[in-house]
Parts: sequence; structure tokens; C-alpha cells
Amino acid sequence: MKTVDNGDDYTPVSFWFDSLPEPVRPLEPQDFADDIDVAIVGAGFTGLWTAYYLKQAQPELRIAVVEAEVAGFGASGRNGGWCFGESAGMYDLLEKDAGSAMPLVRAMFDTVDEVKRVCDADGIDCHWARGGTLSVAHTAHHAGKLEAEVAAMYELGFTDADYQWLPEIEARRRVNTRLNHGALHFKHGAAIHPARLARGLAAHLRDVGVVIHELTPASAIAPGVVETSRGPLRARKIVRATEAYTESLRGQQRRILPLYSMMVATEPLPEHVWEEIGLAQRETFTDGRRMIFYGLRTQDGRLAFGGRSGYDYGSGWTRLVTRDHPGVKRVEDTLLDVFPLLADYRFTHGWGGVLGVSRRWRPAVSFDQATGIGSADGYVGDGVAATNLAARVLCDLMLERDTELITLPWVDDPQPRWEPEPLRWLGYTAGSLIADMADRRELRTGKPAPPIADAILDRLAW
Ligand SMILES: Cc1cc2nc3c(=O)[nH]c(=O)nc-3n(C[C@H](O)[C@H](O)[C@H](O)COP(=O)(O)OP(=O)(O)OC[C@H]3O[C@@H](n4cnc5c(N)ncnc54)[C@H](O)[C@@H]3O)c2cc1C
Repeated sequence: MKTVDNGDDYTPVSFWFDSLPEPVRPLEPQDFADDIDVAIVGAGFTGLWTAYYLKQAQPELRIAVVEAEVAGFGASGRNGGWCFGESAGMYDLLEKDAGSAMPLVRAMFDTVDEVKRVCDADGIDCHWARGGTLSVAHTAHHAGKLEAEVAAMYELGFTDADYQWLPEIEARRRVNTRLNHGALHFKHGAAIHPARLARGLAAHLRDVGVVIHELTPASAIAPGVVETSRGPLRARKIVRATEAYTESLRGQQRRILPLYSMMVATEPLPEHVWEEIGLAQRETFTDGRRMIFYGLRTQDGRLAFGGRSGYDYGSGWTRLVTRDHPGVKRVEDTLLDVFPLLADYRFTHGWGGVLGVSRRWRPAVSFDQATGIGSADGYVGDGVAATNLAARVLCDLMLERDTELITLPWVDDPQPRWEPEPLRWLGYTAGSLIADMADRRELRTGKPAPPIADAILDRLAW
């Protein structure tokens, strides 16, 4: 497969892009074939997994993917590397109707193993480590809430193979964060190198005959045709897999809200620092702050750490986020607050990207047989594993297969459009100010913030 040197350096996309075994070069553009069965817009995890499962189910399908940049350029090549067996909104659905949400919960748990199964089967080395996820209690009050959550999950039939409460001594042995009152250990999670997974999947797809047209932005989707910078791509079925970048398509405004998340990575840390920090199983970790943070230990011994950041008025986004961005600096400060001993070590990378939020703050998958157009998106920062499940659901919908997957609550879940500006910006900004104030107060006093703060955040669906 020929590549082109378009003068772009992709290493600033993320630490993950910078640490790929080979530098990323875009594929040389090819003419569109005229007998395409399925066109997919976007070569992130959603688009790549969808192509993967369609090709597995029906190897004769002719599939073309159009990607504005290079495979994995979006959130899929920049994220926190949590392959996490939970999805946004999953527990709300469980609370509302355990019966209909339970298959989704079980399917999300199993998805972590499914990602590993594909990597093993197709020789994709994504630095997999299945240490689960630690949600550390940053206050005594939060510890009480997490313990109660574990008890509630056991009542629903889950066991300590799924969730386990770790008292403070054991939690600190696992991850010695400054504020640590115990931790919930969720077992269905793995740490991965996301760009290796995205690029590995793309390479595998090319081997099995899927054509990926890089440097080919689409401008609109209509039944039977994707309008692109290289002219129309005609296909019987079309999948929109553009998540946070969906506003780039004509007529798709206000469907998905792009939210920034920023990340940093340290230099490789010496073994005595890891003895102090923990993460011996490369567990992924977070704590109870509303301004969510997430971290993991990379295979080469760095701490990669990120946090939710901001929203650009009018649902804009920056192509590449550089280290000098104030959001990146805030993430550095948070990491130093969590592990003060890291003040003696260097941050080598800082980057960021946008993730996509649907109006109901949970993923949605749909395929309309009449128009032949489908989509999957709205993972709200929990898309590494969820994109795999969404792609399998989408594949069953497209191939009209009568499976349990097409009955999951994500399917045909109507997602209203977001409010027009300035309401979107005001809602987000008010939410982030309240969340930040509530967090600061809890971190300072160790006491829970007034319930009104969370009541307002709930109202804002923040
Ligand atoms: C900093 C950060 C940290 C995160 N951490 C985690 C984590 O630890 N765990 C987790 O589960 N999730 C995490 N997420 C979320 C997760 O990465 C996403 O949910 C997931 O990657 C979404 O995949 P996707 O394929 O739907 O979208 P993307 O990966 O964003 O892919 C969309 C693709 O479409 C292309 N595209 C867009 N518009 C067009 C167009 N008009 N024409 C052609 N191509 C187009 C883009 O270039 C891009 O390659 C994080 C996200 C970010 C940004």
C-alpha cells in the first residue's frame, strides 16, 4: 500500500501516535470503485469496528471507508487507553429498568474480552493489560457511597468477580493516591495503547480488502451517496462514524456536542517510583471528582493521565491540541495533586481531543433500512470498548439479523438535538463552574458539597 508525504507530522496527535512503531503517513488516494456495498465515513474505532464485523459476517461485501485525515486521527488515537466495560448512562438505565438494562451491562462486560479476542486472533499488539479499574474514594463520604454501590450491585446478582470494595490499606497498595479512603475495584477493564489498536485494525482491514481512503473529508451524506473532497462515493449503505466531528457534515448540526479532554504523559518512571505509586497490574484509575480524571501506567512505564476539559462556543474544535494549552496545564496540576512525588519528573507529552456527547448523554445506534443510512456515537468519553459493541449492534441491524444485540436500549433511542447557542455554551459553562467549585470544596474540607450542587448538575445533565 503506497503512502504519501503530505508534509504533515502526526506525532503531535498524542503520545500514542508518537510511540507507534512506525511514523504515520497517509495512504495514497485511490479512485472510488463504483460497486460499493457499504461506505463508512470516519476511520476511528466506530468506523473500523463496523467494517471489521461486516467483513467477518460477509467477506464478499465491498467496503470503502473515507477519513478526513488518517485512521485513528480522532479520539480513537488520543484517548486515555481505558478499555472499560461500562458505557455512559449505563447505570441510569439500570436504575430505571434493571430488566431491560441488564443485557447491556453484561454485553459491555463481555466486550472487554471481545476486544482482546480480536487482537489475539489478528495479531494486533495493543499493550493489553487487564488490571480492572480502580475508583478511589477521595473523601470518607465518597467511600460510603462507593461501598453502598457495591452492595447494590451484589443485590442485582453481580459478584466480586465484577465489583469489589477495597478498604484503604488494600486500595493504597493498588494505587497510592494522596486522598485515598478505599476504592471500588471494577474487574471488567483493561489498559491499552489505543493508537496501536486503531492502526492495527486499519492495517488488518486493508489486508482483508477494505479500502480506506485517507485525506478524504466528506461534506454530506444522502441516501446512496457520500459527498467528498474527491467527488461522490456511491454505496448501497452508508454509516456515519464521525462522533465528535459530526458538525463537519451538512445538516448534522447540534446532533453531537464535542467536549475536550486533555492528557499528559510523564517520562518513563523508575521502578522505585512505581513501588510508591502502585498500579502493578496496570490498573486504570480515577477518583470521585466531578471534573473527571483518568489515568493508567503505560507498558513503557509512564503515567498517562487525562481530564475532562472544555467546550468551544458553537461546537468548534481544534485539529491538534498542543502542550501549551491551558487545559493541558490544568491536567498536569491535577496529576501533581494526586501524586505529589511526580514533581521530580518530567512531562514529555501533552495533547487533547474532542469526544462526543449526545443529548441524552449515552450512546445511540441506528440504521434506517429505508434510506440505507446508519450511525453510532455519543459515547461521552467511554468509547474504547463501547465502540466495539456499538459496531456489532450496527452490523446486526444492517444485515437484518435477529439477535439479542439489536434489542439493547441503545438501538433507535431517539436523541433530540442540542439547544442552539448561546444555551449550549451557557449550560456547559455553568455546569463546569459548579462542578469545579463543588470539587474544590470537597478536596479542601473533606466534606461533601451541598446537595444543591449535584441537583443542579443533574438538571443540566452534566
Ligand atoms: C482525550 C480523550 C480521552 C479519552 N479517554 C477515553 C478512555 O480512556 N476510554 C474510553 O473508553 N474512551 C475514551 N475517550 C473516548 C473515546 O476515545 C471515543 O469515544 C472513541 O474513540 C470514539 O470513536 P469514534 O470512532 O466514534 O470517533 P473518532 O475516533 O473521533 O473518529 C472519528 C473519525 O472521523 C473522521 N472524520 C470526522 N469528520 C469527518 C468527515 N467529515 N469526513 C471524513 N472523516 C471524518 C475523524 O478524522 C476521525 O478519524 C477519550 C476521548 C478523548 C478525546
